[in-house]
Amino acid sequence: MPSRTDIPLNVAIIGAGLGGLGAAVALRRQGHSVTVYERYDFAGEVGASLSAASNGSRFLEEWGVDVKAAKPVILKQLIMHNWEDGEVQSTYPLGDYKSKFGTDYNNFHRIDIHRQLIKSAFEDEGEGPACILKVNHKAIDVNSEEGGVKFENGVEISADIIVAADGIRSLTRELIGITPEYTMSTSCCYRCIIGADKLRSLNLEDYISNEAIEYWGGYGINKIVMSPCSNGEVVSCYCFYPASYNNLRDDGWNIGATPEQLVETFPDLDPRMKTLMLNAEDIKMWRLYRHQPYPFWTKGKVCLLGDAAHPMMPDQSQGSCMAFEDAGALGIIFNKTFRENYSIKEGLSLYEKLRKPRATRVQEASFRAREDLSERIGWSSSSDRPGKLTIEEVCGYNMREHLDKLVAELNEAEA
Ligand SMILES: Cc1cc2nc3c(=O)[nH]c(=O)nc-3n(C[C@H](O)[C@H](O)[C@H](O)COP(=O)(O)OP(=O)(O)OC[C@H]3O[C@@H](n4cnc5c(N)ncnc54)[C@H](O)[C@@H]3O)c2cc1C
Repeated sequence: MPSRTDIPLNVAIIGAGLGGLGAAVALRRQGHSVTVYERYDFAGEVGASLSAASNGSRFLEEWGVDVKAAKPVILKQLIMHNWEDGEVQSTYPLGDYKSKFGTDYNNFHRIDIHRQLIKSAFEDEGEGPACILKVNHKAIDVNSEEGGVKFENGVEISADIIVAADGIRSLTRELIGITPEYTMSTSCCYRCIIGADKLRSLNLEDYISNEAIEYWGGYGINKIVMSPCSNGEVVSCYCFYPASYNNLRDDGWNIGATPEQLVETFPDLDPRMKTLMLNAEDIKMWRLYRHQPYPFWTKGKVCLLGDAAHPMMPDQSQGSCMAFEDAGALGIIFNKTFRENYSIKEGLSLYEKLRKPRATRVQEASFRAREDLSERIGWSSSSDRPGKLTIEEVCGYNMREHLDKLVAELNEAEA
């Protein structure tokens, strides 16, 4: 018989993206009963890379996600190229990364890591009761005080905690009273991928064997960010350019473009990179938005998580790492015996206090890094400017220590 303090929570998660799935696994591991509601009939991901620095990878490992099965390329260095001829201008070796920060710097294909998170959440194997996935459940209303959710298909449910992981355009966020303040960025982005065999046939195999995130530009809007994933079988590129170039207004991942369009966007770029672009596949355009931090993240029984809470520019490669940290925080706060220490309401308040300042700091630094590569962790140094976000601060983060400190401060303030 579980004691009163062990009674599991009934958790509803809205959204089966990387953040929602991370939260599902983290809470499952603490014995909670978790249902994930996804609006589409397939909880899918797009074809592009995703680098998970140690602050994100640490939680994947802790949750028992099969990281190896997600076929990561373990990053060894950052490389900066000259825009016009591709010559290497500088490198940042990540050499002792694992011994310093505890995990590898994993570079995944997004689809591969999404698939492993789905397995960890919904298959019976592993600690805690398997989570339940309900597809074709688009949330259209929430009652934050009662813990209720209504879906477009007529289903209504109630839960002890509702985790709103419904992405950058979160409806739940508005339903709890937040009106996002955001502007269209002056930057747009193409993403594309190319297979290893094609690269080899083009004499570009060093783009795989370097095991690096490689940059062209980055001082100003134009920037190419390239990295290998899927055990080195795929190379993925993000290509940032001024929004004024084609005044793209739509967003989402599904606006296609041709290799010629891609190359024409960067006329004076390194010819080798242009060769890659002319042979690239699955080229999609992407509109960027700048969201200001939201005034709060929790209301009643609802908490925001991932892009719903802190959408950020992709220039620190930290959006999903922050979502994994959010998910990790829920697992740590709502651990098996949390009721011995606090109520659900107090736990959610602790979640916001723990997560909002850190995610906001990364969100702000991501905006600065949009047009200034020297703000990007790895390339940044605290000796440039006091208070600059650094790789040590991001990757060396110890959430448990942070939480202990926060609790001690709150207790002191109360005493
Ligand atoms: C180009 C690009 C490159 C990036 N690179 C990196 C990187 O290298 N490293 C990194 O850490 N991060 C990176 N990020 C950021 C990262 O991808 C995002 O921060 C992360 O995917 C957000 O996950 P999420 O689960 O919060 O939101 P999403 O992935 O948007 O998932 C939201 C889910 O909620 C569902 N949903 C929405 N509304 C409803 C509703 N009403 N009811 C039910 N379901 C709903 C959606 O269908 C979706 O499945 C990158 C982002 C982009 C765009």
